[in-house]
Amino acid sequence: MTAPRPRPIAFFDMKAQQALIRDDIDLRIAAVLDSGRFVQGPEVEELESRLAEFTGAAHCVGVSSGTDALQIALMAEGIGPGDAVFLPAFTYTATAEVPLVLGATPVFVDVEETSFNLDLADLERRIALVEREGRLRPRAVIGVDLYGLPADWPAIEALCARRGMFALDDAAQAFGAALHGRRLGAWADATACSFYPTKTLGCYGDGGALLTNDAGRAELYRSLRTHGEGRTRYEVLRTGMNGRLDTIQAAILLAKLPLLADELAARRRLAAFYAERLGAHVAVPRLPEGAESAWGIYTILLPDAAARARVQQAMAAQGVPSAIYYPKPLHHQPAYARHHAASIAGGPPPLPVSETLCDRVLSLPMHPYLDEAQAERVCAAVLSGL
Ligand SMILES: *Cc1c(COP(=O)(O)O)cnc(C)c1O
Repeated sequence: MTAPRPRPIAFFDMKAQQALIRDDIDLRIAAVLDSGRFVQGPEVEELESRLAEFTGAAHCVGVSSGTDALQIALMAEGIGPGDAVFLPAFTYTATAEVPLVLGATPVFVDVEETSFNLDLADLERRIALVEREGRLRPRAVIGVDLYGLPADWPAIEALCARRGMFALDDAAQAFGAALHGRRLGAWADATACSFYPTKTLGCYGDGGALLTNDAGRAELYRSLRTHGEGRTRYEVLRTGMNGRLDTIQAAILLAKLPLLADELAARRRLAAFYAERLGAHVAVPRLPEGAESAWGIYTILLPDAAARARVQQAMAAQGVPSAIYYPKPLHHQPAYARHHAASIAGGPPPLPVSETLCDRVLSLPMHPYLDEAQAERVCAAVLSGL
């Protein structure tokens, strides 16, 4: 008799979860089909109150994607030409494209090697450089909770409050994460969430939300997501966009939300398992005091690009998927290099940590339905490539 073939390992797994709640999802989608309220149906409002409750934020506004959440948040502050928006060089492209779409200038900031998040000293330094030059107004900081780990929000918020800047949390990878016992959602002036299928809370298409404690901002977000409408549908108060969350996606998220707390716990257990097995051999993520990661992505650090290539090959040979988030810092991307060069006169200071991280990061399979035998195989494959 041959041994049973081991279960294939998925990098993200949406099928196992779907099997648990498929009946509920089918019922909820059918209810939307029956009602015919595909846009701004009652499910959207129901989801908004559930998400506010889950995160502890006072207001939640469902929108069409994480990217549109970022855009609506900056539009509500009137950010545009002549404004500098500070954000990490080591993040997903959406964080940087939004200020550019609005005519503002992204100013890339370096990150810390330990947290992968904004380096506050470098942020202060670049704000001072922009201020001294006097050409752009420092208006906003977009902090990213990369891989699910909250950035240092008390410090970012304090810095922004001191300088009259807007603090925007790009929590696209971190829905469910917490700081000092409070979930992300009201640590920054506004928090942008993504429900892209592979995020910690994902729908079956595109979706997103904005969370805030500020009632005035929430009202603006509702207006901006619907073409800047006022109290009636045909009163247009401001330039907005079509940025609504689909009713069907809201219905799917309502079916998924009850699983989230257990899924976050399963992600935490997997992260602890990886750290225990691998921590003596490679750099594994360590959480700062009081931080609870959503573990959207689990990323280890290898000494250099060659070592990473060896581990990645060993993993692939053993059928274990891996990924590199991100192979290139944003200031080296063709779309941004020129804007970066022009953001600070005489050329901005280098971004050494963002650059070396791109050579060293490697992400392992991370999802709530990875069992212990699979996690063992992931670790064995990593160790065999060292
Ligand atoms: C996924 C992601 C976004 C964009 O979210 P979408 O819903 O895909 O538009 C923005 N920022 C970060 C850091 C992300 O990971």
